[in-house]
Amino acid sequence: MRKMLGLLLAFSILTSCANSPEITVTPPALTASTPEPDSVTPAFSDTVTLTAPPAATDDFFTQMGISLPAPICTTLTQSQTEGPYYIPDTPERHSLLEEGMPGTRLILVGYVLDQNCQSLPNAWLDFWQADSNGEYDNTDYSLRGHQFTDSQGRYYLETILPGLYASRPIVHIHVKVRPEGGEVVTSQLYFPAQPMEGLTVQTEDKGDYLLGYFNFVVQR
Ligand code: FE
Repeated sequence: MRKMLGLLLAFSILTSCANSPEITVTPPALTASTPEPDSVTPAFSDTVTLTAPPAATDDFFTQMGISLPAPICTTLTQSQTEGPYYIPDTPERHSLLEEGMPGTRLILVGYVLDQNCQSLPNAWLDFWQADSNGEYDNTDYSLRGHQFTDSQGRYYLETILPGLYASRPIVHIHVKVRPEGGEVVTSQLYFPAQPMEGLTVQTEDKGDYLLGYFNFVVQR
């Protein structure tokens, strides 16, 4: 009798599993037109969970196992329009991430260099961008922040991939760069799926975040 009940129970479990709606998580498929490995859309999208406070640049590179490739400085970083959404006096910070912020995590790293390819410590960088829905925060400083390069002329920015907005359907991050004692260069950074010559971030999909490399070359 007990054996019979056991068989009936196993049968009912099997039947109920077979009737349950199947939940399948399918990552977005890579298409032939998707650049590989430099894809702007990694196979994940998430909300941000903050695990540790942002570290000093040197500690951050060590912690993340990031080493910058030797820079090649062929041309100066070209200027582009500031656009209508710049706000001055942003907070000084390396991370624009906020707990629960939706979006694909992006870590942007690189050097600020002069025309002779010498790295520039203490160069000022100011970043601003849209959120994952393509909206700018024009009343506060969300997704806005400035920082200075370290003693080796390196910067890092933790953020998310910006979304598209209707009037400007190309993924971009705005930036101002100023070498110590020099002139401000205002520009924008783009991504491999919608590249812009000389202003395209080289990306690497690291699984749970996208790593982007970009070196700024400015006149000193
Ligand atoms: Fe913009």
